[in-house]
Amino acid sequence: MIKTEKILHLKSHRGRKVRVVREHYLRERVPCYSSLCQADCDNDGKVLPGDLTHYVVPDVGVVVDFLEILEFRELQGVVFTQTACQAVQHSKGRRQYNRLRNLLKDPRHDCVLFANEFQEYSYCPREKGESQEKWQTRCVYSAAVWYHNHLAGMMDVVMITEDQDAVAQYSSLNSGVYVISVQDFLQNFWPELQVAHELYSSISQALQEKESEASQKEYTEHLPAEILEAGIKSGRYIKGTLNINKHHDEASIMTEGLSNKNKDLSWGVLVCGNKNRNRAVHGDTVVVELLPKSEWRGKVTALSEGEEKSGEENESKPMPTGRVVGILQRNWRDYVVTFPPRDGTQSQSRNSQRILAVPWDRRIPKIRISTQQADALQDHRVVVRIDSWESTSLYPNGHSVRVLGRAGELETEVQTILIENCIHVPPFSDAQLREMPVNSPEKPWRMDPVQVAERRDLRETHLVFSIDPRGCEDVDDTLSVRSIAGGKLLELGVHIADVTHFVTEGSLTDLEARMRSTTYYLADRRYDMLPAVLSADLCSLLGGVDRYAMSVMWELDAQTLAVNKVWYGRTVIRSSYQLHYELAQALLNGEQAEVPELAQLEPEVKDAKLAELTQALETLTHVARHLRAQRDRGGALELEGVEVRAQLDEERNITALVPRQPLEVHETVAECMIYANHWVARKIQETFPHQALLRRHPPPRQEFFSQLVESATAKGFTIDTRTNKALADSLDQAVDPQDTLVNRMLRMMATTAMSQALYFSTGLESQDQYYHYGLALDRYTHFTSPIRRYADIVVHRLLTAAIAMERGTDSGKEIASNKELEELAQHINNKNRAAQRAQKLSTVLFQCLYFKERDPETDQQCVADAVIYSIRNNGLLVFIPEYGVKGPVYLKNREGQVVAAGQDGSCEWQSGSLRQHSDHISTTSSCGTSTFRLFDHITVRVSVRSTSSHADSLNLEVISNKPHRSAEPQQPHSQGRSQLVQEVVRLAEEAHQQAQEKAARRPKLSREEREFSQSKTPNLYSLLEEVRELALMDLDMAAQVCATSA
Ligand SMILES: [Zn+2]
Repeated sequence: MIKTEKILHLKSHRGRKVRVVREHYLRERVPCYSSLCQADCDNDGKVLPGDLTHYVVPDVGVVVDFLEILEFRELQGVVFTQTACQAVQHSKGRRQYNRLRNLLKDPRHDCVLFANEFQEYSYCPREKGESQEKWQTRCVYSAAVWYHNHLAGMMDVVMITEDQDAVAQYSSLNSGVYVISVQDFLQNFWPELQVAHELYSSISQALQEKESEASQKEYTEHLPAEILEAGIKSGRYIKGTLNINKHHDEASIMTEGLSNKNKDLSWGVLVCGNKNRNRAVHGDTVVVELLPKSEWRGKVTALSEGEEKSGEENESKPMPTGRVVGILQRNWRDYVVTFPPRDGTQSQSRNSQRILAVPWDRRIPKIRISTQQADALQDHRVVVRIDSWESTSLYPNGHSVRVLGRAGELETEVQTILIENCIHVPPFSDAQLREMPVNSPEKPWRMDPVQVAERRDLRETHLVFSIDPRGCEDVDDTLSVRSIAGGKLLELGVHIADVTHFVTEGSLTDLEARMRSTTYYLADRRYDMLPAVLSADLCSLLGGVDRYAMSVMWELDAQTLAVNKVWYGRTVIRSSYQLHYELAQALLNGEQAEVPELAQLEPEVKDAKLAELTQALETLTHVARHLRAQRDRGGALELEGVEVRAQLDEERNITALVPRQPLEVHETVAECMIYANHWVARKIQETFPHQALLRRHPPPRQEFFSQLVESATAKGFTIDTRTNKALADSLDQAVDPQDTLVNRMLRMMATTAMSQALYFSTGLESQDQYYHYGLALDRYTHFTSPIRRYADIVVHRLLTAAIAMERGTDSGKEIASNKELEELAQHINNKNRAAQRAQKLSTVLFQCLYFKERDPETDQQCVADAVIYSIRNNGLLVFIPEYGVKGPVYLKNREGQVVAAGQDGSCEWQSGSLRQHSDHISTTSSCGTSTFRLFDHITVRVSVRSTSSHADSLNLEVISNKPHRSAEPQQPHSQGRSQLVQEVVRLAEEAHQQAQEKAARRPKLSREEREFSQSKTPNLYSLLEEVRELALMDLDMAAQVCATSA
């Protein structure tokens, strides 16, 4: 090792320059991470393949400015030098540096880090008078040459740089080492990678125009980090996440733990207006300073159409109000924007335009983009990234990343929803698919004898079967039940797909599944968490085939059903029957029913088998009733949302979403799954008290129940919210025999008041915090759906580790620490929220596309019955059962007119006044007084409010204050919704065909089209199976309702 000195010029926080001298050690051996290595380097971890045409070594400037291009997975064999990485850290800050580090860690990216400055033969000390930039370029070039020599000339090396002098100086120095610009590199090696070319020109454009900023300050400077931190410590400043309200120019800071310190701040801090927000963007971690009390304001509570000014009367009582003094962390993501139509003043120069693009998300400020494609991109949706927001600039500066397509087209809108929720679901890569086992007619998959020997084999001893909705393909759970010990005991078994057998921790498939965390269900398609060979085949516990399973088996006392013993472990099963709910229920009811698996058998054998199956189903029902009763005594809640289910045809299309028939077998299966989840939670928590992944559902805040309680009172019901048991009981009592919707609406309000259920690591919370309020269980987790939820995969691994520990066959593999697990839990929670948001947004999208095709004035489909569920000071919130739509209905318009109902109920706008009461609202005009009460049924007209920059929304207008009587008999309430999806898909496909016919005539701007869609089969099975829990996780529904107002 050689010791030398290295001189660094660093910048302090306040901009002072600091000269640092560091001892620097040089080594002969520094790993090259290439599979072509001839020198026996210590190449641990990721290694560059040897079968490439060249390796790429980007210069410092390229890594600093064009990292996004280097992130394309198509680019292989990229060598990042230590020199470049340090430059990123110093000039771009922590966020960008972490991004680079993650890229280096990610096995899906074929790139490595070379510690060039520690390598004796590649390091070059800085020469006197040499500029920092020139020296860095020389270092990188020297590293490129080192690679070529180290690999004995077997691999060409391409250095890419934006420094034209470097190209001239180095390009012909060494054969086999090429020096070219990024543009040449892309053109020569990646001519087809259009997205990279577009990204390159958009970034370089943004760089070129960065300097020409005005010097006038638009915002106050942010305070330095030390001052912010000291201020937070002393209590002068408050730290939190900026959350911008969608409709008003209003934001709030929510921070955990705030309420403990200061009761005043338990509802957050309000930040009003652009200037006070001081360049903070929705989601940023900011520091605020409170304004004097005299400047505090209230939140706007009225229904708002955006343009309306928020008058005094519409504000709640004043609350702590502040201004942003600094930003601790930018949480910028990819944003979808629309390039506005260009007016005459803008269109003079065609080239190089700076355009104020309008983000789809109303909470994000307009973003200034430099582009040469301003004309071509009009009315298109484009993905952009923000680069900077200086105090001298009214708007942030950014660059475009890729074009999604024309606004309003189905695929563009679906991709928009995905990107806006940070959902990345590219097709599974070849490398991932190569990890998958093969199962084809030529090479059928078979069980491994070693595995079979290690597992408990239930194939001959246990009657295993599944019960799912008709047409279900991904069966992740099966059941068994039998009498043992001469009838003294019952053995109940839940057998779950053994996904972790196929998905090794840390494999590409595992990383992808972890990143996705869940299967995503949109209105017309789904994106699977695991490749189809697993989810629909080898992991799916199909009938008549051998499968690996992960089982929980209870020995219960046949009389008392008390648990005698629990066994957890890996098994081999062969499911005998793939039943659907209706069939299972028919067998239980003793009705005549054909079981397909028995169709070919002799009558006697058939009868015996049928009797055996029916007996098992009856026992199962008996056990489940007991379990349910146990939970009911503890206060389990039945919430709105349970009563809808999907009906699928042979092709697994949804033919209808129908109100749930009261099939007991549905509840029986659910109860067994809840039981398995609960017992697995106990097992892993007891074995790993500080690092088990559980799921808790915190009790709701009492104040959130006020709307529920008041609304129920209006109908003469009393709702007791003190405990989950009291709430469940009083909700059961609150039934209006005249109108079943009343109970449904009350349950919906109860759901809205609930907190979300969340995953967490047991090391983080004390045990009294583990409680699941909705299910009334002291511990709960997710174990039963590993095919479509990553949490279940984590839990399967924990259970495997717990079993191994118990048996003393510890593999020695370390399980995740509490901290790692907690980070993972947060990640999964975030992805679940994103999945829910995307699902809701896609439903709204389809609703809008459906109504967009219709003329609201003449089409009877646009007139519907609606029930009032909330009274606001300028209107109502209503629910339309037929379409499952919720939204605001205004009773006062911008001209100050109010809705007046005539004798026959028909409504019109007249000048008059409005008066709000707790359970009703009245308008008074020359016609007299019209009153709208909670739970009244009214008739509304549905139309679409379109804006090119944002999502369309539905506009509801009252046309009569009487219930709507449609000419046809009332259909089941949700049928309209599924027809709606089908019709919209059909129209979109027609439009797509027409567009393809026209495609030859106009340049194609979007290459995305449908390639991201992995599965077009709308399978709501899995979704509805856990609908009980989904109801608990429901997002702030009130906010969603408001989201539909523009
Ligand atoms: Zn080597």
